[in-house]
Amino acid sequence: MARPVRQTYTYQVPDGLRPLVRPGCMVRVPILNQKAEGVVVSLSSATSLPLRKIKFLESVLTPEYAIPPDLMDLGAWMTEYYLGGPGETLSAVSFFGLREQKRVTERRLVLSEPLLWAGKSALPETTDSPDVPAAPAPPPAAPPAPPPATPPTAPVLTSRQREIIAFFQENLNEAVTRSELMRRVKCSREVIAALLRKGVLAEQTTELDRPDGYRLQAAAGRPHVLLPEQSEAFCLVSAAIQENRFEAFLLYGITGSGKTEVYLQAIALALEKERQAIVLVPEISLTPQAVARFRSRFGPQVGVYHSHLTPGQKYDLWRRIESGAVRILIGARSAIFAPFPRLGLIVVDEEHEHSYKQSDPAPRYHARDVAVWRARHLSIPVILGSATPSLESMRNADAGKFRLLRLTRRTGEASLPTIRLIDMAEHVRQEGSAGLISKMLREAVQERLARREQVILFLNRRGFSNFFFCMICKTPIRCDHCDVVMTWHKAAGKLLCHYCGDEKPRPTQCPACQAPDPAPLGAGTQRIEEEMAALFPEARILRVDFDTAGGKHGFLGIWDQIEREDYDILLGTQMISKGLHLEHVTLVGVISADHSLFLPDFRAAERTFAQLTQVAGRAGRMQRAGEVILQTFIPHHYAIQRAVAHDADGFYKQELHMREMLRFPPFHRLLLARFSGVDPARVRERAGRLAGLLRDKAVRGNTWRGVSVYGPVPCPIARIKDHTRWQVLLRGQTPSLMRGLLMTALEEYEKDKKRAGVTVTLDMDPMDLL
Ligand code: ADP
Ligand code: ZN
Repeated sequence: MARPVRQTYTYQVPDGLRPLVRPGCMVRVPILNQKAEGVVVSLSSATSLPLRKIKFLESVLTPEYAIPPDLMDLGAWMTEYYLGGPGETLSAVSFFGLREQKRVTERRLVLSEPLLWAGKSALPETTDSPDVPAAPAPPPAAPPAPPPATPPTAPVLTSRQREIIAFFQENLNEAVTRSELMRRVKCSREVIAALLRKGVLAEQTTELDRPDGYRLQAAAGRPHVLLPEQSEAFCLVSAAIQENRFEAFLLYGITGSGKTEVYLQAIALALEKERQAIVLVPEISLTPQAVARFRSRFGPQVGVYHSHLTPGQKYDLWRRIESGAVRILIGARSAIFAPFPRLGLIVVDEEHEHSYKQSDPAPRYHARDVAVWRARHLSIPVILGSATPSLESMRNADAGKFRLLRLTRRTGEASLPTIRLIDMAEHVRQEGSAGLISKMLREAVQERLARREQVILFLNRRGFSNFFFCMICKTPIRCDHCDVVMTWHKAAGKLLCHYCGDEKPRPTQCPACQAPDPAPLGAGTQRIEEEMAALFPEARILRVDFDTAGGKHGFLGIWDQIEREDYDILLGTQMISKGLHLEHVTLVGVISADHSLFLPDFRAAERTFAQLTQVAGRAGRMQRAGEVILQTFIPHHYAIQRAVAHDADGFYKQELHMREMLRFPPFHRLLLARFSGVDPARVRERAGRLAGLLRDKAVRGNTWRGVSVYGPVPCPIARIKDHTRWQVLLRGQTPSLMRGLLMTALEEYEKDKKRAGVTVTLDMDPMDLL
């Protein structure tokens, strides 16, 4: 059942539904006095329960679809590993969700006898013999039009009616809906009704295929001749494809080294072998550019799956998969659940990206890890690609679980950009200003503008200034409902909480000490835009962030704008830090490299290193040399130093050593239990209760040896949306032991009567510890 419960339920199958019900099929069932959706896990002809107590299934949702057996296996593993309920997990695995889906049809109008009117530009008042050239046939998809109500002689028409016929002739009798016809010919409902009555127009039912929003194109791109390193990588992958063998490849190639070309050729090989492929990309770089690259090689066989698709669009996509029209699916994390009948290859591009982990709701899975599991289960290869692999994958490569493939040089003449560090403390000392753009960056931008080259400025913070700060009591303005500082959005004239969306007007006094006029501090994209516009009034600036992209639905529009290239300075958040291939960019400025380093998260250095390396990768992708200017207050931090030196190997060595010393992932695993509720005392008490049970069991006997328990402690963000948050953390090296201990303790915890009001969420391998 698609609810956060860990058990399964038994129902009877009514006779009428018997032919439809099979494992994997999606159903609606009664529970208490409600209805719920669920997935059939297994069928049985016997039960120990008394029959009269077992309710009946109510209906089968989308009967033509059932989750295929290999994905049911995957769901069972995910349920166990990620500690979700079986129903919530299968609901995620189901690809388009547990609901009724249907083909959509639409009624459209056509000329019932297009031949009759063909060639008659001067439309007749009376009939003539139709000895005229043949008019184009109606589109092939259309079913044959019903026979006209009148004999095939043209009836007498009014001039309005003749205009409509002329419209169809001009448009090769393309079927249109009634409302579209009314709009385009500017005629009334009655005129159309009259033409239908006379049999001049006919109505037909067309099946709609709801498209994905990305441009379709014919396959035209040709494969490149592979460079030696690419070729070596391709050979190893193709051997695994040929032999139907599981192998996990870590394709570790610097930005612009041609990883995508390796994916494309491996996919072509899988298709040749009558197999299908999944390509995972992080949502944020699901840019038209990436999609276009796959479509230009493989045409409409490429389906696109992203989180903005409606359930109906997902359903239509499944039908294209089912019919064999779509053989490659490119998409964000849940595309890993694509029900291909003969999957032959999985690619996970930018495998280090955090968006592959689903943090809410359950199942809290990591799509990269699920991809590796699915590949092993199906005996097929999986390629994990990145210029900055995750520490987890590097460790797996070291341990021999993944096969490391390296691409160490850029294709063509492009070389890696030079990176210059600016110590902002020095800048402040010298210029004595709080200006956000150092002199060196200013001059570098000026130079590019003069040469008509393009510049990217990167800052991982939207809004205007970061926050409002009281200079008297030294406190920033916080959200009333969350334990976070609010961000000032100047254009909208308000403070926004990026966690709960709450707003406040500009403060006239400090809420803590009532001192007047707190000051805006820090910098967001809006403020940089203003400063740049003042410095370079003649430059065209395009700002790209969550706000200008128009929230989550506007992202396609803004990518169009980026592609048209009519800007001099592209300014944005991490939305523009990767996946973009911009030919004329020769300078990348990083306004501040520090923000992500100060997060209370052991992955802060890893994130910062990856981000800087990816951003720098945007510069000088073509022949012209690229340059990166990086502003920071902590120039000596090793993550920054290693990024500047393009010394990824050095960074990994140092970071892995540190993680091992501190017993952090990837050497140890973490399992997080998070408690949340409106009553702070109860949340604390409940977290303490579970921690107590865990410790009790952990120290008794030998069963759970090697698992340690930390906490309870308040979460780093101690309150969100008026809910207080506490956490308990398990650490160990064997996930099954950690799970075992937690489940034993939870069993006892759940016997407590007074649990209401406090929610516990479990997160295996958490990526977000805030
Ligand atoms: P990555 O995915 O590693 O960032 P890309 O696959 O985008 O790198 O490759 C960078 C550029 O090099 C692209 O324009 C691509 O078309 C080109 N390219 C890739 N492989 C080759 C090759 N073997 N020969 C010539 N050009 C190539
Ligand atoms: Zn808030």
